Amino acid sequence: MNEKEEYKLNTRGIRPTAMRILVLKYLTNLRHTTSLLDLETHFITSDRSTLFRTLKTFEEKGIIHKIDDGTGVIKYGLCTETCDCSLKEQHFHFYCEKCTETFCLNHVKIPFLELPKNFILKQSNLVLKGVCSNCN
Ligand SMILES: [Zn+2]
Ligand SMILES: [Zn+2]
Ligand SMILES: [Zn+2]
Repeated sequence: MNEKEEYKLNTRGIRPTAMRILVLKYLTNLRHTTSLLDLETHFITSDRSTLFRTLKTFEEKGIIHKIDDGTGVIKYGLCTETCDCSLKEQHFHFYCEKCTETFCLNHVKIPFLELPKNFILKQSNLVLKGVCSNCN
Protein backbone atom coordinates (compact mmCIF):
# COMPACT_ATOMS: atom_id res chain seq x y z
CA MET A 1 0.00 0.00 0.00
CA ASN A 2 2.92 2.30 0.71
CA GLU A 3 4.96 0.95 -2.18
CA LYS A 4 4.93 4.15 -4.19
CA GLU A 5 6.15 6.25 -1.29
CA GLU A 6 8.76 3.67 -0.24
CA TYR A 7 10.08 3.51 -3.77
CA LYS A 8 10.31 7.26 -4.07
CA LEU A 9 12.16 7.57 -0.75
CA ASN A 10 14.52 4.74 -1.64
CA THR A 11 15.40 6.18 -5.02
CA ARG A 12 16.26 9.47 -3.34
CA GLY A 13 18.45 7.71 -0.77
CA ILE A 14 16.09 8.17 2.18
CA ARG A 15 15.31 5.32 4.55
CA PRO A 16 11.53 4.92 4.40
CA THR A 17 10.45 5.22 8.03
CA ALA A 18 6.75 5.20 8.93
CA MET A 19 6.80 8.95 9.61
CA ARG A 20 8.50 9.79 6.32
CA ILE A 21 6.03 7.66 4.40
CA LEU A 22 3.10 9.40 6.09
CA VAL A 23 4.47 12.87 5.39
CA LEU A 24 5.26 12.03 1.77
CA LYS A 25 1.78 10.62 1.29
CA TYR A 26 0.27 13.76 2.75
CA LEU A 27 2.36 15.98 0.48
CA THR A 28 1.49 13.90 -2.58
CA ASN A 29 -2.25 14.19 -1.98
CA LEU A 30 -2.07 17.88 -1.24
CA ARG A 31 -2.77 20.15 -4.19
CA HIS A 32 -0.91 23.08 -2.70
CA THR A 33 2.36 23.55 -0.85
CA THR A 34 2.78 22.93 2.84
CA SER A 35 4.49 24.57 5.81
CA LEU A 36 5.81 23.33 9.13
CA LEU A 37 2.72 24.75 10.84
CA ASP A 38 0.49 22.97 8.34
CA LEU A 39 2.20 19.66 9.11
CA GLU A 40 1.94 20.27 12.84
CA THR A 41 -1.79 20.83 12.49
CA HIS A 42 -2.20 17.70 10.40
CA PHE A 43 0.11 15.38 12.37
CA ILE A 44 -1.12 16.47 15.74
CA THR A 45 0.54 13.63 17.67
CA SER A 46 4.00 14.16 16.17
CA ASP A 47 6.39 16.61 17.68
CA ARG A 48 7.58 19.68 15.88
CA SER A 49 11.26 18.71 15.69
CA THR A 50 10.49 15.35 14.07
CA LEU A 51 8.38 17.08 11.43
CA PHE A 52 11.03 19.73 10.92
CA ARG A 53 13.74 17.08 10.49
CA THR A 54 11.56 15.21 8.01
CA LEU A 55 11.15 18.40 5.95
CA LYS A 56 14.90 19.06 6.13
CA THR A 57 15.76 15.55 4.94
CA PHE A 58 13.22 15.76 2.13
CA GLU A 59 14.64 19.10 1.08
CA GLU A 60 18.24 17.92 1.13
CA LYS A 61 17.39 14.86 -0.94
CA GLY A 62 15.32 16.71 -3.51
CA ILE A 63 11.86 15.43 -2.60
CA ILE A 64 10.62 18.91 -1.82
CA HIS A 65 11.80 22.47 -2.44
CA LYS A 66 11.57 25.56 -0.30
CA ILE A 67 9.47 28.52 -1.40
CA ASP A 68 9.55 32.08 -0.16
CA ASP A 69 6.15 33.37 -1.21
CA GLY A 70 6.48 36.66 0.59
CA THR A 71 4.08 35.72 3.41
CA GLY A 72 6.92 35.30 5.89
CA VAL A 73 6.13 31.60 6.29
CA ILE A 74 8.39 29.14 4.52
CA LYS A 75 6.44 26.85 2.22
CA TYR A 76 7.53 23.52 0.79
CA GLY A 77 6.45 22.15 -2.55
CA LEU A 78 6.74 18.58 -3.80
CA CYS A 79 9.36 18.12 -6.52
CA THR A 80 8.45 16.30 -9.70
CA GLU A 81 9.77 12.74 -10.21
CA THR A 82 12.64 13.90 -12.37
CA CYS A 83 13.48 17.10 -10.49
CA ASP A 84 17.13 17.71 -9.72
CA CYS A 85 16.40 21.09 -8.11
CA SER A 86 18.64 22.84 -10.61
CA LEU A 87 17.94 26.24 -12.11
CA LYS A 88 16.12 24.76 -15.06
CA GLU A 89 13.60 23.17 -12.67
CA GLN A 90 12.61 26.50 -11.21
CA HIS A 91 9.02 27.39 -11.83
CA PHE A 92 6.55 30.05 -10.89
CA HIS A 93 4.50 29.77 -7.74
CA PHE A 94 0.99 31.04 -7.28
CA TYR A 95 -0.35 32.55 -4.10
CA CYS A 96 -4.12 32.59 -3.70
CA GLU A 97 -5.34 35.67 -1.88
CA LYS A 98 -8.58 33.93 -0.88
CA CYS A 99 -7.47 30.65 0.67
CA THR A 100 -3.91 31.94 1.31
CA GLU A 101 -2.43 28.73 -0.11
CA THR A 102 0.59 28.69 -2.40
CA PHE A 103 0.73 26.37 -5.40
CA CYS A 104 3.63 25.06 -7.47
CA LEU A 105 3.14 25.82 -11.14
CA ASN A 106 5.51 23.05 -12.18
CA HIS A 107 4.78 23.52 -15.86
CA VAL A 108 5.23 27.28 -15.83
CA LYS A 109 9.00 27.43 -15.99
CA ILE A 110 10.97 30.57 -15.47
CA PRO A 111 12.03 31.86 -18.87
CA PHE A 112 15.65 32.40 -19.72
CA LEU A 113 16.61 35.81 -18.45
CA GLU A 114 19.34 37.88 -19.95
CA LEU A 115 21.17 39.30 -16.96
CA PRO A 116 23.79 42.04 -16.97
CA LYS A 117 27.35 40.90 -17.46
CA ASN A 118 28.83 38.96 -14.53
CA PHE A 119 25.53 38.61 -12.69
CA ILE A 120 24.99 35.00 -11.72
CA LEU A 121 21.48 33.73 -11.06
CA LYS A 122 21.28 31.23 -8.21
CA GLN A 123 17.68 31.28 -7.23
CA SER A 124 14.45 33.04 -8.06
CA ASN A 125 11.35 33.55 -6.00
CA LEU A 126 8.78 34.38 -8.59
CA VAL A 127 5.36 34.40 -7.03
CA LEU A 128 2.19 35.24 -8.89
CA LYS A 129 -0.79 36.40 -6.88
CA GLY A 130 -4.46 35.99 -7.55
CA VAL A 131 -7.31 33.56 -7.02
CA CYS A 132 -6.86 29.80 -7.41
CA SER A 133 -9.23 27.43 -9.22
CA ASN A 134 -10.74 26.19 -5.92
CA CYS A 135 -11.71 29.69 -4.89
CA ASN A 136 -12.71 31.04 -8.26
ZN1 LIG B 1 13.33 19.81 -6.81
ZN1 LIG C 1 -7.64 29.62 -3.26
ZN1 LIG D 1 7.38 24.72 -6.52
